Amino acid sequence: MSVITRSIYGEDAMVQFGSELGAVLPDGILVFLEGELGAGKTTLTRGILRAMGHEGAVKSPTYTLVEPYSLDGKTLYHFDLYRMADPEELEFMGIRDYLTEGNYCLVEWPERGAGVLTEPDLRVKIEVAGEGRRVVLESLSERGLLATDSLST
Ligand code: ADP
Ligand code: MG
Repeated sequence: MSVITRSIYGEDAMVQFGSELGAVLPDGILVFLEGELGAGKTTLTRGILRAMGHEGAVKSPTYTLVEPYSLDGKTLYHFDLYRMADPEELEFMGIRDYLTEGNYCLVEWPERGAGVLTEPDLRVKIEVAGEGRRVVLESLSERGLLATDSLST
């Protein structure tokens, strides 16, 4: 529905951009974070969480698949599905309950959950571009549009 592209150089700028994004994400949003290993998905997530008031560390939940963050009455679930062998594991985790209830869900490696995950509201693609990164945000729903519309201004 709407596409925004940004060129971002360096880790600090990536955290900063994540903060911008975190400040405008509506609750109930499902965000896919796509890009190769080392692209910057977790770095961006750190910025998003910072904007939402989380001050502690943010690590990729590589082995647990999901890390919950309690924020001011809401919960943000950060998924990393890189090591998930079978999308069925998401069913066992009760993924549908995570996706409802007005929480925020950020998913690294959503490809691994194909067939079980629903379409996201917002797709964030990160590509390595020289020393920096090219970040493409694509809103795919009205809720996603709330985020991209707020960013582009
Ligand atoms: P992913 O979660 O996609 O595997 P990470 O967020 O762990 O990747 O980041 C991998 C590396 O990329 C980190 O060393 C980080 O500092 C670096 N990085 C992140 N964003 C940028 C950027 N915009 N420009 C340059 N380096 C970046
Ligand atoms: Mg990661």
